[in-house]
Amino acid sequence: MSADTYRHRGMRRALVEELRRKGIRDERVLTAIGTVPRHLFFESAFQPHAYQDKAFPIGEGQTISQPYTVAYQTELLQVQPTDQVLEIGTGSGYQCSVLLELTPHVCSIEYNQVLFERTARHLAGLGRTPRLFCGDGSLGLPQHAPFDKILVTAGSPTLPRPLLRQLRVGGALVIPVGDETSQRMMRVVRESETEFSRQELEEFRFVPLLGQAGWGAG
Ligand code: SAM
Repeated sequence: MSADTYRHRGMRRALVEELRRKGIRDERVLTAIGTVPRHLFFESAFQPHAYQDKAFPIGEGQTISQPYTVAYQTELLQVQPTDQVLEIGTGSGYQCSVLLELTPHVCSIEYNQVLFERTARHLAGLGRTPRLFCGDGSLGLPQHAPFDKILVTAGSPTLPRPLLRQLRVGGALVIPVGDETSQRMMRVVRESETEFSRQELEEFRFVPLLGQAGWGAG
């Protein structure tokens, strides 16, 4: 594992300014991106590129999301310091680490066993302590529900009903929904036990959400 140097901190500051220019406004989100050393979530071959605003491979056919996407989804989530947050798609653990800058109560679930084990070890080594689970996140984590915020970091064909059921009243789900080639970001708020409101936002391209309430087993 490499260190976090003065040069890395400079590149993070430049990345934060780039995200600001691209429209990210929430200072808490920008501070979180400016704090988490993204290069430590990369395989060494890709580390020199860690502060470009791009997605990169993390193995197992998966990617670490582009910083703009991480900032955009995190801003939409409007995380408060007491919120219980569920992330679906732990991947490299980077987004999870950004969420931990905003609340200590983060659960994250990863479908791919190899990524789960690798990232669990890595986050422990960095001293970051989310509650990590391996399994089908399209079904949420019923045993730990309800959640104030749920963030899905893979593209879903529909709004997964189990996730809507696991939102606290007043809580929000941020999820990209669409086909395999592009998805529209959605922010769904649980207004009451039975009512939900939703906003449809920018288009993105994510890897597929696998599992029972996603695209299937994969
Ligand atoms: N948040 C990650 C990060 O910061 O590196 C990036 C996530 S990557 C774009 C999407 C992740 O979702 C992949 O690691 C993939 O294995 C995972 N995934 C896909 N379907 C899933 C499911 N049903 N439950 C949990 N994780 C899932």
